Formats: sequence, C-alpha cells, structure tokens
Amino acid sequence: MAYRIGSGIDFHQLVEGRDLWIGGVKIPHTKGALGHSDADVLLHAICDAMLGALSLGDIGVHFPDTDDAYKGIDSKILLKKCFQLINSKGYTIVNIDSTLCLQEPKIKPYVGQMQQTIATILEINITDVSIKATTTETMGFVGRQEGLVAYATILLSRK
Ligand SMILES: [Zn+2]
Repeated sequence: MAYRIGSGIDFHQLVEGRDLWIGGVKIPHTKGALGHSDADVLLHAICDAMLGALSLGDIGVHFPDTDDAYKGIDSKILLKKCFQLINSKGYTIVNIDSTLCLQEPKIKPYVGQMQQTIATILEINITDVSIKATTTETMGFVGRQEGLVAYATILLSRK
C-alpha cells in the first residue's frame, strides 16, 4: 500500500496551576491542561493519527498513563517515538491537517512556532503542517473553558 491515512482526537481538562502546552509550545495563560504527561492536546492527536494510519493502536497503548516513566513527560518525545515507529514500518509523512478547539487564549500568535516545532520533529516542511483553530462560540465544555480538544488527520506514504 503506497498511502495510509489516519485520524486522531484528544481532550484535556483546563485547570489552574498547570502549564499550557500546545503543539510543543508553552503558551502563557491562567490555566493549563491536566494530564499524566505535559498534556499537549495537539501533539497527542497527531500521535494518535500517526499510529492509527498503520493500525498500531493509540497513544494510551504505547505510553500508558499508569507508567511513571511518562509522568510529566514532554510530549515532543512521544511524538518523536511515534515518528520513529512509523519510520521503522517503512512510512514517512506527506502532510498533517489539524484543528484546535478552545475558547481562550488566542493561539494564532503561536501557530508558526508550533508548525516549526512539529515539522522539525517529523522531518517535513512547515507548509505540510496545517494548524487551524476555532472557538465553540462559548458553547459546551470548550466554551466554558473547562477543556480543550484537538483533531488531526495525517497522510503517510511508503518510503
Ligand atoms: Zn492527551
């Protein structure tokens, strides 16, 4: 098979007293994402998309939140590990499209840095890493700023 497509979705609660990491970038905000790792919702969705493209399960299978080895871990390390795994299976990345859903803060000023961070780890061009963002028009848990969501779609090509 020359091409494989994958999709990923991730959710995290937003709470006070945590850092907000999105797309490998630390964003100044009054709340941060709660999780076993650094809780980077975008990187987790991309990891799941990569794993899903090759039917390799999900991030929870590869990096269990019951394992202390992953407590507080930088999700850029998890992203790299997923990339190495799909590489070892003979695949490389064509492009990524993603969407973040959060009410606040505005992430537009950080998107370029996120694209660069992800592109460097995954050895693709920044133009191959699309990051879009939307609010939910104040509706639901995202609108109430109780949490945030990321969706990612990835296309892999056989090397
Ligand atoms: Zn996550």
